[in-house]
Amino acid sequence: MKLVLLTSLILLLYIYEIILPLRKRKLFEKMSLIHGLTNLGLIFFGSFFIRIVTLAITYYSIDVYSFKYSLMSILKLSGPSATVLSIIFFDFFIWLQHVASHHIPILWRLHKVHHCDTFLDTSSGLRFHPIEIILSMFYKLLLIMLIGISSSDFLMFEVILTGFALFNHSNIKINNTIDTYLSYFIVTPNVHQVHHSNKVDETNSNFGFNIVIWDRVFGTYKEYKRVKENLEIGLKGVSPEDANSLIFLLLWPLRRK
Ligand SMILES: [Zn+2]
Repeated sequence: MKLVLLTSLILLLYIYEIILPLRKRKLFEKMSLIHGLTNLGLIFFGSFFIRIVTLAITYYSIDVYSFKYSLMSILKLSGPSATVLSIIFFDFFIWLQHVASHHIPILWRLHKVHHCDTFLDTSSGLRFHPIEIILSMFYKLLLIMLIGISSSDFLMFEVILTGFALFNHSNIKINNTIDTYLSYFIVTPNVHQVHHSNKVDETNSNFGFNIVIWDRVFGTYKEYKRVKENLEIGLKGVSPEDANSLIFLLLWPLRRK
């Protein structure tokens, strides 16, 4: 079900990107094809590592959902209130993880693979270094135990998170007025574009994936309309050839310099 939902969303966004793109490009140009293949390669390696972690948990029969000192057990919450609250808590800690990925040098080494993408589209939403994916899996396991989120609620959160990541990295044009209203609540492609700017103060803003409340509350929100004139996507110092080379991206975080 999760797979059907996300595959349908990917197809829908790809069709939207072709019909009404935000930034124009030639789909069958050499660089476009290399970009797509590189992102697909990273997605393939990432999925492979997720399967290893999932298999290990199943093999060792780790019941991550029944931790009795979890937040939901302490608050004695269940049913819809537990679903809503645990998903909000989960979203906050994923936002916090993203902030840490930018400010802790060893985490940034991995996360910059995602940020050096020079052209944002649906595939960018899943373009992460495999080691970052595996670390994120362990972090999520810890959160599952600490928050006490149920397996069905966690799956719901994962579908929401992946769905939003696909949506807010996509190259789709949304009417400006609709975008302004939407961006009071959720992370639209324009809101997330600011986070992919090659200027450090803009990259270190708009960390949210789903809702914008955390960035607005903690003062890390930057409005798209204030920066859009000089917005350039990518990372300074990384050539487009390196940013689109699968081998370079896999080895880059492991290099000394
Ligand atoms: Zn980031």
